[in-house]
Amino acid sequence: MRGLKDRIRQIAPYVPGEQPKERDIIKLNTNECPYPPSPMLLAALKEFPGEDLRRYSDTEAGDLVQALSDVYGVPADQIFVGVGSDEVLALAFQTFFTELSDGEHLLFPDVTYSFYPVWAELYHIPVRAVPTDDGFKIRREDYIGQQDAGGIIFPNPNAPTSICEPLAFVEEIVRSNPDKVVIVDEAYIDFGGESAVSLIERYENLLVVQTGSKSRAMAGLRVGWAFGSRMLIDALKAVKFSFNSYTMNSPAIALGAAAIRDVDYWKELCRRIISTRERLSSGLRELGFSFPESSANFLFAKHETISGEEVFQTLKARKIYVRHWNAPRIGDHLRITVGTEEETDALLAALQEIVG
Ligand SMILES: *Cc1c(COP(=O)(O)O)cnc(C)c1O
Repeated sequence: MRGLKDRIRQIAPYVPGEQPKERDIIKLNTNECPYPPSPMLLAALKEFPGEDLRRYSDTEAGDLVQALSDVYGVPADQIFVGVGSDEVLALAFQTFFTELSDGEHLLFPDVTYSFYPVWAELYHIPVRAVPTDDGFKIRREDYIGQQDAGGIIFPNPNAPTSICEPLAFVEEIVRSNPDKVVIVDEAYIDFGGESAVSLIERYENLLVVQTGSKSRAMAGLRVGWAFGSRMLIDALKAVKFSFNSYTMNSPAIALGAAAIRDVDYWKELCRRIISTRERLSSGLRELGFSFPESSANFLFAKHETISGEEVFQTLKARKIYVRHWNAPRIGDHLRITVGTEEETDALLAALQEIVG
């Protein structure tokens, strides 16, 4: 006989980086921006009419979509917004990958965003994790002419490897798979990569997903979006409106729009992070760490002699949090978010004592 427990869906959920309550830690474990969001966002927060919360939010999030349309030069009907790019990605998995033919798989790199296998499990999507090469690079040819491919997703820059592929590389994968949806997750594109958004006019099968969480310092607001053909965007909207029309709340729409419109502040944030990343890179190299060249707001670093677990635990005991996975291939690596200049000094000083 089936018991109650057997009727309940069991799933191992995604495990995000820790969000400790203490304020006196140096938090370099979830790739948040170390600087505050745009002053325009903070002004919009102060001015937000609480009275408006009485009404349902705009199901189309029109102000936010218009801000994205103006800043990125993409028509509004080719933009989809959601509660962080995690919601956009989850809905995209459901929209584009739950109707694969027998024998087909969703392809993604073996070392990548660990939410992908969780969504695949949630929606019963068959997957094939494609091994990255010895340097953790995605191999273009692994995603071209694959008989079993029913869809493709990869981040560019990839996470947690920090490696960015050129636009021509992305275009070739998109062009070679015209009858499959290819999703490029550009959570970190603003830190040194070239966005594939310029390709959406030419390729109906391309969805480019971005977020306000990393380069615009609004992870807590939960604002993400996707650019794509009308066919893909309309399909995403149909699934979203079959699930919950009001996922985005009114303050997130208004504040998100204000932040998106403040282009100068956003560019300045990126410039500062990139400059600190270069200083952190040379500091870590001098201490015996190696890592791929980063195009993101983090480094994927491994020490020449000390294990990843040991460096992770020792830093944590000193209230410096970085990210570590007990996973195949990457157990000796740490993903270290680029913090402020002061946080970088403190990190390098602590590591000097640990490995020196
Ligand atoms: C951070 C991240 C996201 C999701 O960010 P949201 O805060 O949900 O917008 C998506 N993909 C990758 C690769 C990320 O690192």
